Amino acid sequence: MSDHKVLIIGSGPAGDTAALYAARAGLKPHVFAGFGAGGPPGGQLMLTTEIENFPGFPGGGIAGPELMGRMRQQAQDFGAEFEDVDVTKVDFSERPFKVWVGDTLYTGEAVIIATGARSRLLGLEGEEKLISRGLHTCATCDGAFYRNKSMIVIGGGDTAMEEATFLTRFGDVNLVHRREEFRASNTMLDRARKSEKISWTLNEQPTEYLLRENGTVCGIKSKNTKTGEETEIKADGVFLAIGHIPNTDLFKGQLKMHDNGYLVTGGPAGGPTEHPNTYTSVEGVFASGDVQDHTYRQAITAAGSGCMAAIDAERWLAAQE
Ligand SMILES: Cc1cc2nc3c(=O)[nH]c(=O)nc-3n(C[C@H](O)[C@H](O)[C@H](O)COP(=O)(O)OP(=O)(O)OC[C@H]3O[C@@H](n4cnc5c(N)ncnc54)[C@H](O)[C@@H]3O)c2cc1C
Repeated sequence: MSDHKVLIIGSGPAGDTAALYAARAGLKPHVFAGFGAGGPPGGQLMLTTEIENFPGFPGGGIAGPELMGRMRQQAQDFGAEFEDVDVTKVDFSERPFKVWVGDTLYTGEAVIIATGARSRLLGLEGEEKLISRGLHTCATCDGAFYRNKSMIVIGGGDTAMEEATFLTRFGDVNLVHRREEFRASNTMLDRARKSEKISWTLNEQPTEYLLRENGTVCGIKSKNTKTGEETEIKADGVFLAIGHIPNTDLFKGQLKMHDNGYLVTGGPAGGPTEHPNTYTSVEGVFASGDVQDHTYRQAITAAGSGCMAAIDAERWLAAQE
């Protein structure tokens, strides 16, 4: 016997949507909403201001924390239980699955993982508090705020090339990279190099953010990695494109992961393989949202896959009876 039919780890758009669907299916899910280890309860959108690309909110969008408050409330209305705690250990080696919060053990017949990912930051002072205050980690999300403005993109991989190229739709981009060589593929690099709207500042390591009087970011201070000389590079906004870290430490040794640490989903554990699904490598454990998606990383795609995970879990549980 297990304490719960469905345990959900994470309360971003993926976890909350999974909770809504599981609750409406009568599964009374228990949600570990997180408490800091992998981001705040409510997930990454708690760190941002306006969300203009989540469908259903015309006329300026909706504030991230408000959207997440509403998602949680909607799931609670149907009986989902939320607890603002971090899961500290899991054991998926046998059923029912075991999940610990400190010394407290919970068991569940199915588990939905929705622990998300976090953007890699430079590690500069006060950086986290500057996110969405002139400092950004997602061009698709925030590029439109910089129409006819200047932007710095920091990074040298494919993501940096893609973000820089995308941002040229809105304004001029200064790509700042700490080396002369790039990790980006030649195709992505060539595409970025073709753009007249991208200028290149190489061998520069950011050391500090430049702030306006109102505390928002208006550029960076950097140090030349060859000469040691310090410069100020100004722009209307700064985009970090130095990678993401999936919150998957908890699942090491238990679930199959890609080389970059993201969870593998899509089916070998008895799930349907003819279409995308949320099955992980352990039957009965499902994963949704950014923790298994290093491509789209949007609130709506996370919510969509949270819905898929709840439906997959519900059907899988029904098949076990
Ligand atoms: C600053 C910023 C602005 C953004 N703006 C937009 C935008 O405008 N539009 C858009 O579509 N997308 C935007 N995004 C991207 C969007 O936020 C993510 O794609 C989305 O939040 C992913 O949802 P998720 O549910 O998969 O994970 P997350 O939102 O990352 O949520 C993960 C959840 O897991 C929890 N968790 C982690 N570890 C544990 C643990 N051990 N135990 C319990 N809980 C745990 C966390 O506390 C959190 O509740 C933005 C992201 C950032 C950072």
